[in-house]
Amino acid sequence: MIIKIRGGTSPQALEALVGWLRAMGVGVSAIDGARQPLLCLVGDTAGIDIDSVRAQAIVEDVKRVQEPYRLASRREHPDDTIIPIGEKYIGGDAFTLIAGPCAVESEAQMLAIARAVKAAGADLLRGGAFKPRTSPYTFAGLEREGIRLLEIARAETGLPVVSEIMEAGQLPLFGPVDILQVGARNMQNYPLLRALGEQRKPVLLKRGLSSTLEEWLMSAEYILAGGNPHVILCERGIRTFETYTRNTLDLSAVPALKRLTHLPVFVDPSHGVGVASLVPSMALAATAAGAAGLMIEVHDRPAEAMSDGAQAIGPGQLRTLRQTVDRVRQAIAPQKKEERP
Ligand code: PEP
Ligand code: MN
Repeated sequence: MIIKIRGGTSPQALEALVGWLRAMGVGVSAIDGARQPLLCLVGDTAGIDIDSVRAQAIVEDVKRVQEPYRLASRREHPDDTIIPIGEKYIGGDAFTLIAGPCAVESEAQMLAIARAVKAAGADLLRGGAFKPRTSPYTFAGLEREGIRLLEIARAETGLPVVSEIMEAGQLPLFGPVDILQVGARNMQNYPLLRALGEQRKPVLLKRGLSSTLEEWLMSAEYILAGGNPHVILCERGIRTFETYTRNTLDLSAVPALKRLTHLPVFVDPSHGVGVASLVPSMALAATAAGAAGLMIEVHDRPAEAMSDGAQAIGPGQLRTLRQTVDRVRQAIAPQKKEERP
């Protein structure tokens, strides 16, 4: 962190500021500018609130030169995070396909789709039991019963399951769930992030609707700081002025995050575009961009889906997609080797 001091500041006031900063555990060295001194902070500045530094009367400007996230940073943890899931793993050289319906609707629906996505080559099954819906009058999930149906589908197919948790109080219900999803709307629900940091299940953290990469990584940092190292980031589109697609899928986030962090980066093209016919292209593009996995919404009868039917692809399309994704992965392998951060 570099602090620019106002011209004409007295040596006593400068001394007081330096003492205040040192008391926060960082090293401070002063560089005598012609009339405006600069203070360089070294050491762990992550705990320093930049706004409270800016609020000091003699401070003209402050800049961070180090990321405010420490545990999520690639700089301090050069090796990719690898997350074991059942007999497989997520991250590193692995590629993981998560597929399933937006919402768990019934036992018959869940079992049919679970079997179909497994046959199509999915590695994990998704299904929402607690659905964050824009309207309070639409289907909000089967809740506890939805988790029970996921448990049945898991036992039947052997696929580990991913499901969204909306508040910490729901944790005891999530026993059969292998990966806890934090939805876009909850990316900055800090009490939830803290609670998920204190337990040991992997967390799939979706990007907030209008969050920067840094805000997103700071949310991951909450979970990591609690002692849970298993965080997966999932790009799912951000808000822009474009309305043709549901969101704008920011695929540049994938290579950018791979540079900034060691955490696996997934892409959810289903929520990213909101239109089923556009999902396969964006899934392939995400793969080419180097995503560690995809999350795809699949329904056997999209027209009857209780949520997000318009963006659900069918199991047959998923099977084709899996094969094409694998070919794209092979095609980019030499490039990936060269690009290793
Ligand atoms: C979902 O995965 O069904 C979902 C609600 O996603 P998001 O939080 O990205 O909108
Ligand atoms: Mn959905």
